[in-house]
Amino acid sequence: MSFEIRDKLDKNLIRLLNTKNFELYYDYLLEQNKLMNLTTITETNEVYYKHFYDSIYLTKVLDLSKKNVLDIGAGAGFPSIPLKLINSDFNLTIVDGLKKRIDFLSRLINKLNIKNIKLIHGRAEELAKTKSFDIILARAVSKLNILLELALPVLNTNGYFVAYKSINYQAELNEAKKALCLLGGELSEIVEYNIDDKLKHVYIIIKKVKTTPKKYPRKFAKIKKSPL
Ligand code: SAM
Repeated sequence: MSFEIRDKLDKNLIRLLNTKNFELYYDYLLEQNKLMNLTTITETNEVYYKHFYDSIYLTKVLDLSKKNVLDIGAGAGFPSIPLKLINSDFNLTIVDGLKKRIDFLSRLINKLNIKNIKLIHGRAEELAKTKSFDIILARAVSKLNILLELALPVLNTNGYFVAYKSINYQAELNEAKKALCLLGGELSEIVEYNIDDKLKHVYIIIKKVKTTPKKYPRKFAKIKKSPL
């Protein structure tokens, strides 16, 4: 496998992508993508940077070691599977509403021989209220105000929710201010990073500072019809 080395990006992270496991992941993703809809990005460099590098850049910002981490709507495994490949030392739960994708992930995990991953076929808003996580991640799942209602009820106080977003995040963030306040969250940090010379993405990092009122999350139909 050869993917290009992009000068302006983090060399150490790029080195971590240059392993057999990422190659296996790439091959299996493309093979299975012929059978089901997993990704529209298929060119080697695009997959390595827009999927893999984008996922793992978070390790520059947050330490996942020993944490209980939830990935909401991981789809073909982003961002949590690449994160698991470079640091296996955390407990991962993935919830996704699409059974085919959960089944794909189950086969992928066996292929890559990675441990401490729990796969749940279901919707994030239906996760048992008894469950709680130190860190919650979501990439390309929904708008921020909706994501906050899915994530904050099952996030531990002082834990972090990370939304992977494009650089045009400002309007979405403004729209989510009410949800943030009602659900007990606070904007902690916005981290901008490069995917290539020009393209930038951001992590919107939210800290849970107060208990979320018990009435949240509401049923999905309600969340969608009248987002906070
Ligand atoms: N995170 C992946 C990525 O960045 O490539 C997948 C993104 S895909 C566009 C969105 C995924 O989120 C789908 O697999 C969908 O089934 C899942 N999803 C959307 N809303 C969800 C919810 N409320 N609970 C669980 N999964 C959800």
